[in-house]
Amino acid sequence: MAIFDKFQKLAVVREELERHHGRFLNIVMEDIRSATEAVIDGKPVILAGTNNYLGLTFNDACIQASCQAVKKEGTGTTGSRMANGTLSGHVALEQELSDFLDRKKTIVFSTGYVANLAILSTLVGPGEVILLDGDCHASIYDGCKLGGAEVIRFRHNNPADLEKRLQRLAERKTNILIVVEGIYSMMGDRAPLAEIVVLKKKYGVNLIVDEAHSLGVLGENGRGLAEEAKVEEDVDFVIGTFSKSLGAIGGFCSSNHPELDLVRYASRPYVFTASSASSAIASTRAALQVIRSQPELRTQLWDNARNLHRRLQDLGYKVGSEPSPIIAIRYDNIDEAYAIWNGLLERSIYVNMVLPPATPDGGVLLRCSLSAAHSPQQVEKIADAFASLSKNQD
Ligand code: PMP
Repeated sequence: MAIFDKFQKLAVVREELERHHGRFLNIVMEDIRSATEAVIDGKPVILAGTNNYLGLTFNDACIQASCQAVKKEGTGTTGSRMANGTLSGHVALEQELSDFLDRKKTIVFSTGYVANLAILSTLVGPGEVILLDGDCHASIYDGCKLGGAEVIRFRHNNPADLEKRLQRLAERKTNILIVVEGIYSMMGDRAPLAEIVVLKKKYGVNLIVDEAHSLGVLGENGRGLAEEAKVEEDVDFVIGTFSKSLGAIGGFCSSNHPELDLVRYASRPYVFTASSASSAIASTRAALQVIRSQPELRTQLWDNARNLHRRLQDLGYKVGSEPSPIIAIRYDNIDEAYAIWNGLLERSIYVNMVLPPATPDGGVLLRCSLSAAHSPQQVEKIADAFASLSKNQD
């Protein structure tokens, strides 16, 4: 058997996609003009499919900090956090994240994916149990696999199903870790965190919340869903990423657990990869300042999110019941979704089209996301493009 033979099925799917939906496979951002504008196929488009919730990729202070860092410290660290890759910026950012989240300890990782890989594979292992929401991100699943703990999925956002599983585990004298997300990346809905915290306390287990999509987005101070739900003290570990509202790349875990630092020594994804470049660390530090000092960005983001949600709902698109910066429209088959996705692109609007296995239930999603940097006129244009395609809806 040749080495690629096992991918035969995938090759067929890819060929089909190339034949019928080729544009989708070959999207290149030829030019990025701002947090909300790019050039695709030589044409300017409005970006309505990023994770740039606060628009900080083009924030002046962030760009300046990043440029200064690259001039001062070079383009990369060329080493692991464990060796030559811990620079003073990494240490300062860890302290600043701890201050922001009011936690004792923070570890900065190279990406959010690596943060989940590191934390989930290290905190629990063989003989221990992870209870995870079925809609959790791939990095969480991969971290579970790497660590070798027993993984039990509970139904998405279903505390009753979680409790059933906790009851079954009650006799087991082992560590149990519940994992949920603040805002789920594909559907844009939030975890019922207050109810999950009640269960976490009742059964005496640990709780991780991945606030990748909710940091800077939810809570009075932008600390995420745990802040909004007023349960921060009951969340044992917060995971986050710099690649969304913070507009850079990197990830972190914060906790009040006094021994969190042991993860640095026990975790392969911390030890065996190079640390984030100084430029990313510097812009993230500046972005954190912006999150703290400009709450109006969050207000702007939510105004945009509510406006688009209302317009799409009025047009008959099957969006979630609650407004969210992530607005997903579900289709049963790719042809229907592609027709809208491509129609939007023809109208100069880019949204994400998401295919299984990245979608929760095997459907195809059009995933729109809003940014504080979208002007009201841009939101109107996005909605108008959907309106001109809406006769295709049921
Ligand atoms: N967690 C969640 C919930 C995510 O959605 C993502 C990325 N989409 C990550 C972690 C990984 O973050 P990063 O892009 O920094 O690797």
